Amino acid sequence: MKNIAVLGSTGSIGMQTLEIAREYADDIRVAVLAAHSNIELLEQQVREFKPGLVCVYDEDKARLLKDRVNDLDVRVTAGMDGLIACATDADVDMVVAAMVGMIGILPTVEAIKAGKDIALANKETLVTAGHIIMPLVKEKNIRLLPVDSEHSAIFQALNGEDRKNVYRILLTASGGPFHGMKKADLETMTAKDALKHPNWRMGPKITIDSATLVNKALEVMEAVWLFNLSIDQVKVIIHRQSIIHSMVEYADGSVIAQLGLPDMRLPIQYALFYPERKRMKLGERADFAKIGTLTFEEPDMETFYGLRLGIEAGRLGGSMPTVFNAANEWAVARFLKGEIGFMDIPRIIGKAMDNHEIIGNPSLDEILYTEKQTYDFIKGIMKI
Ligand code: NDP
Ligand code: MG
Repeated sequence: MKNIAVLGSTGSIGMQTLEIAREYADDIRVAVLAAHSNIELLEQQVREFKPGLVCVYDEDKARLLKDRVNDLDVRVTAGMDGLIACATDADVDMVVAAMVGMIGILPTVEAIKAGKDIALANKETLVTAGHIIMPLVKEKNIRLLPVDSEHSAIFQALNGEDRKNVYRILLTASGGPFHGMKKADLETMTAKDALKHPNWRMGPKITIDSATLVNKALEVMEAVWLFNLSIDQVKVIIHRQSIIHSMVEYADGSVIAQLGLPDMRLPIQYALFYPERKRMKLGERADFAKIGTLTFEEPDMETFYGLRLGIEAGRLGGSMPTVFNAANEWAVARFLKGEIGFMDIPRIIGKAMDNHEIIGNPSLDEILYTEKQTYDFIKGIMKI
């Protein structure tokens, strides 16, 4: 029996993790749940899974939830202290980091320090603090298992191979809903347009990131940290069907890929049970005759220049990936509210990066300070 903490349990990845936990209840116990403020759904989850500990980041909502579940034997915590208590709870073997954004950094770091295995969906954490997290993973000898479908594919394609023979990674990207469009068309795209992803159903932030291709830039940086690569060893390739989830090209020219239908339950399940492969209970198996065609194209980095900026941020390193990520988090939140245009997202990221003086090898405090500094800078130029 594996005891898991699901941080971000009310989100897209969190809910799919709970679907798997429900299906494999003999193998997985949900010991801890955490979310930001959606206490309606969290209450249902608490009643179904009966965790011993819960965190609601929003303190007022935490108080409300406490009242609503006072008939149950569950401790309700709040704020960052609550999230860290959840990430380090003695009952927990594995933490599923499924929160969105940089808020995931501290709980993830504390979970690793407490010796927990991590199933990592929260890529923003690795993008900004990979240089702190990866050595800690080694020191604590824990497993950091990727949930992101591309990284799960790479991880699987590396199974049993000698890492020194890796030539490069071919990181596939669907291209998102605006594939093929040019800058002028993109200026007028709204959140409603951008939220129509062709292949995946995901939370709003990552869906916008997929439309701008910023998600792929974050994934390039995530891959660099997870698999100890140089940024030039990661090549992004547009693959509209999202059937090949990524590939590893070896020194001899052989390419090993992992394929499957676009369904996040597959990589989540792989991370939860690794190295065991459980028989599929949820979703469908791939029918290749039905899929028919797989296509590949170069990404258009001129139009979707958020991807180019992200790769540049990764190459510059230090605190620059934090600036890239924080500027993007800020811009996406405003775009979702209809306050800025679609192309303002890369524009704001570019301005924030231009303004930043890089801190080499930033500490956690410096990363969080850089995040705040980036928000302050953008608020200044946007006059909001
Ligand atoms: P969602 O927006 O669907 O869910 C986010 C979750 O995080 C919610 O449970 C939310 O709680 C919680 N959360 C947000 N802020 C806080 C906070 N301060 N404290 C505690 N919990 C918080 O996001 P996704 O599930 O789509 O994405 C989660 C992460 O996984 C992201 O980093 C994303 O990039 C990554 N990912 C997602 C994929 C997908 O298919 N969805 C695929 C690959 C990676 P509440 O509901 O209360 O707001
Ligand atoms: Mg992905």
